[in-house]
Amino acid sequence: MQDKLRHLPQVQSLLETELAEQLIERFGREDVTDAIREKLAAARFDIMAAAPEDTAQFSAGETMSAIAADLEVASKSTLQTAINATGVIIHTNLGRARLAPEAIDAIQSIAADYSTLELDQETGKRGSRHAHVEALVCKLTGAEAAIVVNNCAGAILTCLCALGANRDVIASRGEMVEIGGSFRMPDVITQSGARLVEIGTTNKTHLNDYAGAVSDQTAILLKSHTSNYAVVGFTSTPTRQELSALAKQHDAVLVEDLGSGVLIDLKPFGLSKEPVVREVLDAGVDVVTFSGDKLLGGPQAGIIAGKKALIDKIKSHPMARAVRIDKLSLSGLRATLELYCAPNRPTERIPVLQTLSEPIESVQSRAESLVGLMAAREDIQAELVPSIARAGAGSLPNQDLPSYALALTSAAHSADQLAKALRLATTPILGRITKDQLLLDMRAVAWEELKTIADAINALPAQ
Ligand SMILES: *Cc1c(COP(=O)(O)O)cnc(C)c1O
Repeated sequence: MQDKLRHLPQVQSLLETELAEQLIERFGREDVTDAIREKLAAARFDIMAAAPEDTAQFSAGETMSAIAADLEVASKSTLQTAINATGVIIHTNLGRARLAPEAIDAIQSIAADYSTLELDQETGKRGSRHAHVEALVCKLTGAEAAIVVNNCAGAILTCLCALGANRDVIASRGEMVEIGGSFRMPDVITQSGARLVEIGTTNKTHLNDYAGAVSDQTAILLKSHTSNYAVVGFTSTPTRQELSALAKQHDAVLVEDLGSGVLIDLKPFGLSKEPVVREVLDAGVDVVTFSGDKLLGGPQAGIIAGKKALIDKIKSHPMARAVRIDKLSLSGLRATLELYCAPNRPTERIPVLQTLSEPIESVQSRAESLVGLMAAREDIQAELVPSIARAGAGSLPNQDLPSYALALTSAAHSADQLAKALRLATTPILGRITKDQLLLDMRAVAWEELKTIADAINALPAQ
């Protein structure tokens, strides 16, 4: 063993090899030196742990090749484009909405140059970044005023801070939602400095419950869209009109967190009703909050729309500055909102809406095209099966969207192993596992991605 240890090369001698010199060119001396040190330490450990009869020899060539491969992997960005074959259209882990070409162009040009982000061109004075989208949001929702922030979670927190701090916020136990990433409504209310007054029960909250809790301390009646679950069966909750009237009587404000929210009615596309922002405001809600990158189909953003006096208060609160939107999201959001304005047809231009409204025959023919691109393999069976896709990201819960999937099975690989291999492909491909099969759902997959998927499956190692 001692002998073997003595024959391990010095760091310096490996650094002088030709391959090391090439690696230093690409990754820098420091990273290459660290990688060599690590590999030598591991080799030393292996020698000491090896059985005495083990005759494995240290190979400088193999070690340097392994180091090259490690450095290659480590230098690859962990943030890369992926293929969403999960069947969940708005998938938070996969970046939610694909953007429309118009939004991508807008982001690209604003990113590349200086812009009029906070410039009033008329006066030459400082302007407001909110001005670029406020009128559009108002036009599309009927709101008097609007402000856009970093995301919907930030939007709710800002509303609560600006309108509810040190006072009571009344909310139903049936609407104490937790959205992903441990954002829980009761905690957010407490964080804002408001006092949470919980009323009602999980399944039933009556107007009387609200009326009984209102006092001169009440600032907000808060409604939250139970976006990622549905309380069904023996349920009851007052209408927005009733809550609005109660709020008015007591000088309180009715705020509704819509989460996703939509700007157009999606019923014509067979999608059950997600609250339309305009209808919610028409029903008497004073302020609504909703996401830019859920069913709206734009970049990450949180939109706050409603009564002007309240929006003005929100705009001037320090929290609004802390969660302000960046210029790239703002430009992408503006371009996306424009696609909702006539004569544009949002369902034809905005990828999220295209994907949701695509006829099943078209999804099926995409699945068939994928099969056509695949090599026949003895060891992997691929079968076309009907599937159920979902909108995802807490929108349209319980809404099944008919879809088609490629079901992959293999005698040699478990579904988990197949899933992992495709997840680690050059372009990661994400499917879902059902009953020991890996399903690649075609609804959210683009036609242009089919070849990449087929190539990755064809390249899976045999056995
Ligand atoms: C998704 C969601 C949010 C948070 O929206 P983000 O844009 O992800 O911050 C808040 N409330 C509800 C009800 C939601 O569904």
